[in-house]
Amino acid sequence: MRAAVSAQHVVIVGGGVTGLLTAVECALAGHRVTVLDRGPIPNPQSSSFDQHRVIRTFSPDDADATRKMTAAHRRWQELETLFATRLRRPVGVVTAWPRERLDAVAASAAEMGARVRTVEPRALPHLEFPAGSAGVLDVDAGVLLAERVLHAAARWLAGHAAVNVRPYREVTAIDGDRGEVGLADGASVGADLVLVAAGPWTRDLVGPPVVLHRQTMVYLRPPQDTVRWWESAPAAGGLGADGRAWAVPPGHGTLLKISSDAVCRAVDTTGDGDEEGQAPWVERLAQAPPVSGLDRYTVAAITACHYATDADTGGALLARVAPAVWSRPACGGSGFSSAPLVAGRIVDVLREGAA
Ligand SMILES: Cc1cc2nc3c(=O)[nH]c(=O)nc-3n(C[C@H](O)[C@H](O)[C@H](O)COP(=O)(O)OP(=O)(O)OC[C@H]3O[C@@H](n4cnc5c(N)ncnc54)[C@H](O)[C@@H]3O)c2cc1C
Repeated sequence: MRAAVSAQHVVIVGGGVTGLLTAVECALAGHRVTVLDRGPIPNPQSSSFDQHRVIRTFSPDDADATRKMTAAHRRWQELETLFATRLRRPVGVVTAWPRERLDAVAASAAEMGARVRTVEPRALPHLEFPAGSAGVLDVDAGVLLAERVLHAAARWLAGHAAVNVRPYREVTAIDGDRGEVGLADGASVGADLVLVAAGPWTRDLVGPPVVLHRQTMVYLRPPQDTVRWWESAPAAGGLGADGRAWAVPPGHGTLLKISSDAVCRAVDTTGDGDEEGQAPWVERLAQAPPVSGLDRYTVAAITACHYATDADTGGALLARVAPAVWSRPACGGSGFSSAPLVAGRIVDVLREGAA
């Protein structure tokens, strides 16, 4: 274990993937950590709590994102060793591209040193490619077993003497000047650094402004004659007739999950998610699904989940909102897989502050 230059007290609001991994990295760096969540830890209501999430390493034409996500992937591998638990399914991620773009995508990968391979649609017969497209396989990408990650991190933190994990503690206020967190029961907790990682609910506590999105996901059991094929299938995006659908393959106890950008919508609040009927969105997804022969698959569950994007750039965000307060208000499409980057940045901030 690394000894901190100067041990500090870090308070983390939110026990999702961002909060838990940041707590792990801060504890490893020798700091004292308190994790607060309004529910259990892990919390089934958090946006991290799902069977799986995809990790991509290659972003065409974005060398910085590729470098960062390659580093994040490396950290995920190390976390498997730290937690002594399998967290990943290294099956790769295939993205459908128009054939005329394939050479440019391959050239971009070569320039960045990313490992990719072109895949013909006939090699992935249960995936529905848009007309005129072929796949580019991001070899080092794959699937993160999300629920397992949360449980493994929570277990590790529970056994660490410098970490105080406090479930059922709702945070109602953040005092940026004093670095103090106010709780619903009237108590307050002081900190050298506060990270607000409350997922799509972060905006209720601190800025900056974000756009809230809701997306419907459908969990499927594949027909018996395809089960073996799915065991080694990659995650996939850019699918369906409109090129907007994606699929996360089943394996290690998880179901096949499908969704589409076509069923992602901007909403005003997370509050009315339970009342909203999902049937029209499932119907829309079924119009351009990512898998062939959808009617042969059995629907096991349907859920809706929220995420937030930076109101200015549409991307993810980590922002310093007061001298001692950092916020992860926006956590879009790569919000789970990029959690090690947020954790690493917070540890760097503590080190820079102590220097
Ligand atoms: C449909 C969909 C698909 C996605 N797919 C992917 C993917 O394939 N790959 C990927 O990398 N990412 C993906 N994401 C994004 C990813 O799931 C999220 O960005 C990530 O899980 C956010 O984690 P978090 O820890 O920041 O927030 P959360 O997991 O939401 O955790 C926030 C926690 O804060 C707690 N909290 C909230 N308010 C308070 C309060 N006032 N007081 C105390 N506690 C509070 C909540 O109870 C919760 O436990 C997807 C998101 C969606 C919606």
